[in-house]
Amino acid sequence: MTEEELRGRVRALVAKVHPDRVDMHTFRGAQFDHGLALVNFPEGHGGLGLNPRMQAIVNDELQKSCKTTYDDLVINPIGIGMGMPTLLTYGSDEMKKQLLRRCYTGEDIWCQLFSEPGAGSDVAGLATRAERHGDEWVVNGQKVWTSLAHVSRWGMLLARCNPDVPKHEGLVYFLVDMQSPGVEVRPLYQITGEAEFNEVFFSDVRIPHGNVLGKVGQGWHVAITTLMNERTALGGGSSQRASGPIRILMGLWQERGKGRGEAGAVTRDRITRLYIESELLRATAARGRAAQRSGNPGPEGSVGKLAQAELYKRIWECCTDVMGADALTYEAGYELRRPRTEDRRDAVSMAKYQFLRSRANSIEGGTSEVMRNILGERVLGLPGEPRVDKAVAWKDIPR
Ligand SMILES: Cc1cc2nc3c(=O)[nH]c(=O)nc-3n(C[C@H](O)[C@H](O)[C@H](O)COP(=O)(O)OP(=O)(O)OC[C@H]3O[C@@H](n4cnc5c(N)ncnc54)[C@H](O)[C@@H]3O)c2cc1C
Repeated sequence: MTEEELRGRVRALVAKVHPDRVDMHTFRGAQFDHGLALVNFPEGHGGLGLNPRMQAIVNDELQKSCKTTYDDLVINPIGIGMGMPTLLTYGSDEMKKQLLRRCYTGEDIWCQLFSEPGAGSDVAGLATRAERHGDEWVVNGQKVWTSLAHVSRWGMLLARCNPDVPKHEGLVYFLVDMQSPGVEVRPLYQITGEAEFNEVFFSDVRIPHGNVLGKVGQGWHVAITTLMNERTALGGGSSQRASGPIRILMGLWQERGKGRGEAGAVTRDRITRLYIESELLRATAARGRAAQRSGNPGPEGSVGKLAQAELYKRIWECCTDVMGADALTYEAGYELRRPRTEDRRDAVSMAKYQFLRSRANSIEGGTSEVMRNILGERVLGLPGEPRVDKAVAWKDIPR
């Protein structure tokens, strides 16, 4: 399909169902049905089987003709960024039919139930237990740091089905209905005052066998697909030149008189370097997207994840330095609440919030240390870390 044909298809969609005149679910449902949701997905599943970079053409055409535009990663970040590719790769046709469209429209929010109190970086060591009882599984255990669990309908759950084999071999991957009896979600308090994430407890939760993704005992392979897509989603950079965090930093710099004398020159130099790094990140992410013809991303996705996490922390730190003493107050307060964007409408409140929130960038989706390990071992081919528990049955690993 040529660019012009694709643009024509977007115009036909908007002529039929205009986002400025209908609600979000109706418009996004129509976008999915026209194959314009994720163009790299197959026809009938929200796409047209095109190169993923052609999604930018769809977004550009929508921005030209509509005031109302939607950001997938705001509407359903985990569902669209990680759940949809995993379901497309491993789900049955029935599951795809039932779940993909509602995930894209935002009717069903998704969460990722991997991390546990004793298993984060070493997620394959997890202890949540799944036992098969006929056509059902019974799950018991605890997850932690589960973003959006409090608003989710579906969870991607990784659990242990066989403790007698090495840790990576005894896992099973489910889609769990978060409204099932026995699922309990409790908020966790973050440095920003917000509770984006939660603890989730499973007490005798029954899951139909039909909700298993991939093969029983091969949950690790399915989890890798989710994690690779997560890293790519978290390391995508900004879509336009000088946008995102660097734009806020440059705005604050302009507004606050740019400093004077040597101190001003040093800050200007710092901002210039951060600008160059932002552009490098954007170009690298764009090149990565262009190279990805189809299928799921590989370990190279860790480059963007690592670079973005470390860069964004430095940009928000620079913002607080530019704001000086003004950065010391935090109007939003620290009382426990669920995320609310109204606290950060202007650049100053956004920068204060992000200075705190960006601490999590180098932890969520895999820490920067773990990204470096992946890049060293799987991209550069350096010697691996010693893994003494690799061939040991999970139940015999000391913990
Ligand atoms: C904001 C936020 C949202 C999150 N959302 C989710 C979610 O929705 N679902 C979910 O399942 N999880 C989620 N997480 C959890 C996240 O994936 C884990 O926090 C992360 O993988 C690290 O695990 P951990 O916290 O157990 O730290 P640990 O694994 O205990 O790590 C502690 C420290 O040791 C270092 N370390 C560990 N292993 C190695 C190694 N092999 N080499 C070098 N250094 C190492 C780490 O880098 C870190 O500095 C979220 C986390 C955050 C902060």
